Amino acid sequence: MATQTSEQSVIEGVKKQLFIGGEWRDAAEGGTLSVEDPSTGESLCEVADAQPEDALTALDAAVEAQADWARYPPRQRGEILRSAFEKITERTEELALLMTLEMGKPMADSKAEIAYGAEFFRWYSEQAVRIGGSYSTSPDGAQRVITMKQPVGPCLMITPWNFPLAMGTRKIGPAIAAGCTMVMKPAKQTPLSMLALAEILEESGLPPGVLNVVVGSSSSDVIAPIISDPRLRKLTFTGSTEVGRTLMEQASQNLLRVSMELGGNAPFLVFDDADVDNAIAGALVAKMRNIGEACTAANRFHVASSVSDQFAEKLAEQMGAMKIARGTEEGTQVGPLIDDDQRGKVVELVEDAVGKGAKTLVGGQKMEGQGYFYQPTVLNDVSKEADLRYEEIFGPVAPIFSFDSEDEAIAAANDTEFGLVSYVYTRDLNRALRVIERLQTGMVGLNQGTVSNAAAPFGGIKQSGFGREGGKEGIEEYLETKYVALNLPAEAPF
Ligand code: NAP
Repeated sequence: MATQTSEQSVIEGVKKQLFIGGEWRDAAEGGTLSVEDPSTGESLCEVADAQPEDALTALDAAVEAQADWARYPPRQRGEILRSAFEKITERTEELALLMTLEMGKPMADSKAEIAYGAEFFRWYSEQAVRIGGSYSTSPDGAQRVITMKQPVGPCLMITPWNFPLAMGTRKIGPAIAAGCTMVMKPAKQTPLSMLALAEILEESGLPPGVLNVVVGSSSSDVIAPIISDPRLRKLTFTGSTEVGRTLMEQASQNLLRVSMELGGNAPFLVFDDADVDNAIAGALVAKMRNIGEACTAANRFHVASSVSDQFAEKLAEQMGAMKIARGTEEGTQVGPLIDDDQRGKVVELVEDAVGKGAKTLVGGQKMEGQGYFYQPTVLNDVSKEADLRYEEIFGPVAPIFSFDSEDEAIAAANDTEFGLVSYVYTRDLNRALRVIERLQTGMVGLNQGTVSNAAAPFGGIKQSGFGREGGKEGIEEYLETKYVALNLPAEAPF
């Protein structure tokens, strides 16, 4: 179990200022904001509270650094990422504790996020030296078509609180590999992991001004001078669909390149031929990783009616046995939700579903006492009218719906404005492919409850956004293609 002293020392060890132009500095008016531990509701520490003028200084630094950074040898950009990957991995324990303290998730989830987040630096350290171009002959043989890849330029990055490190490395990794400079604005509720990451990148040799970090209590005020500045070239956002829409509107004034990783409402489909125990194991991961506070969290379970009661009972048994405690405590599986508002939303969604006829098999209540804990909850026989079928729950609640045919299952899965990820459990390969081809999501987990992988293109369709993070696709978000036309009659090489 983490001791009080080690908790204090990791908090004390983080620089709590703004990181601008390679320097750690206080906010313009010297103000600070408090970072809270969601398992106690108490303040962990104060960090500098950026003002709009700080944001502009951060953009100035990114713009100033851009030209030299674009010329930096790709191998060296890759080596900075590789070095940072090694340092993050070496410091997993302290980074995990920091993350658990500010976000609440169990230590095991924090360690998993750190491994996942670091992997983007390793992957893009390898991609930095593989940025290509092309050379081809036009169809009439009279011209050469040459393409080259160049960095997009200064980027504004905005990340949410639920994965305080990995949502940053998924953007910073490819941006460094491509040669872009950055202003990063993490969520005010969990800025410490990002500040620790900035220090690691500084120690890894990232030149001043390439990454700038501003934390602010008023995110709209802080980003306003950046997003409206014509020197900015790109906005990349991870967060809710609602805020994504607002930011896209603002980004349209400057016609910024935009990537949007937004909300989800993932269906988890279990067909009658599925291995039910395997489906339960996957369901626990898809639902309970990160206390259900994940865009990829299974939001609704659609189960073939012949196995739905069996599935519901087994899931309830397992979710009911999970250890709920402060994330730092040994063996914790369920930590607190991020704040009282988020917990209040979960309370409302469960009350609404129960009011519309759902049966509570386990849980169904918030926990009294310190922190924002909510019981792991399984609801069976949930009505199609329940709000949680259409809204992101972002909590440890598993609603179960049954279906009688493949068509009904697919129609239910697609009956949402979101399109991030879906999960499919079946042992029939033809059925799997038939169903997957008809699912309206950017990603599908086939007989598994996670899809996240640095080597894979993560992203959604419909109101879950556009653009991909990870894989070979991820770096394209930070590259422009320049085409050169050249008149050159065809020559024979022999
Ligand atoms: P959020 O409220 O949209 O906030 C996300 C980020 O945007 C935070 O940094 C927030 O800053 C900032 N922000 C909020 N309003 C803003 C504004 N008017 N102007 C500029 N910035 C603004 O989302 P969240 O509650 O932090 O995160 C949960 C959401 O993220 C869920 O919907 C989840 O599905 C989604 N998500 C999606 C993915 C994906 O890859 N698709 C991954 C993770 C999470 P402050 O918090 O400091 O105000």
